[in-house]
Amino acid sequence: MNVKYSLEGKTALVTGAGRGGRGIGRGIALALAEAGVDVCITSRSTLADAEAVAEAVRELGRKGVAVQCDVADAASVESLFEQALAGLGKIDILVNNAGITRDGLLLRMTEEAWDSVLDSNLKGAFLCTRAAAKIMVKQRSGRIINITSVMGQIGNPGQANYSASKAGLIGFTRTVARELGARGITVNAVAPGFIDTNMTDALPENLREGILAKIPLGRFGSPEDVGAAVTFLASEAASYITGQTLTVDGGMIV
Ligand code: NDP
Repeated sequence: MNVKYSLEGKTALVTGAGRGGRGIGRGIALALAEAGVDVCITSRSTLADAEAVAEAVRELGRKGVAVQCDVADAASVESLFEQALAGLGKIDILVNNAGITRDGLLLRMTEEAWDSVLDSNLKGAFLCTRAAAKIMVKQRSGRIINITSVMGQIGNPGQANYSASKAGLIGFTRTVARELGARGITVNAVAPGFIDTNMTDALPENLREGILAKIPLGRFGSPEDVGAAVTFLASEAASYITGQTLTVDGGMIV
């Protein structure tokens, strides 16, 4: 492998394993592990989800650590970073992947649905990024990658809370990239389109067909597609890229 694409000896913290250890978090953790990274993965409801992904990382010959954490809770995030550092020794890469949807049309959206999505998707990324930045500034190097969404770029009826949180992440990415650039830290976002996960399994068949018709590459994405983009942004090959959003959507919003 071209040495610029290798992540041998690096460590990563990836939030949000996905229900049943499925999902984009798993795809990212395994893509990083294949490139040589030791990975700490988190889940919120049950440690079992993160443990399933950590086990898959270990099967690839890398260190895999699982931690239960609510990224919207400052004390929980503090404990996460203590456990991740104890397990991995350092944190070179942070991937803010944890996220939820609580869809509903604006006129019927409750304050609770708004707050819970903004808390998990945006405040969670803020808390984790702040904690990681303290470590990375001392190391004078680091990679922070925020998983946003094409819905943060184009909007989507029924997702005012979700699209606002994901658009917020793009602004957050640009600002933190400006703040931390001089410290050797890059900050970028990846914006997936429709990816086959638990989140999209719930879509009715007619809606799936309608979405597929709008994707030039003719298929939904996979967690591996997102993992590949994250791995590139985490690598030395992407060392002159910061503040950017890389869209991984099969051409859906070109
Ligand atoms: P999943 O629902 O499968 O996984 C999301 C994970 O995030 C779950 O493990 C969930 O834990 C965790 N999580 C949510 N909120 C919190 C929290 N407050 N603290 C800690 N963990 C939390 O989703 P996907 O894998 O599909 O999505 C992963 C990311 O990709 C999300 O940010 C999503 O918005 C984004 N994305 C997904 C797309 C898709 O098509 N699937 C498209 C574009 C973006 P728990 O289950 O315990 O709550």
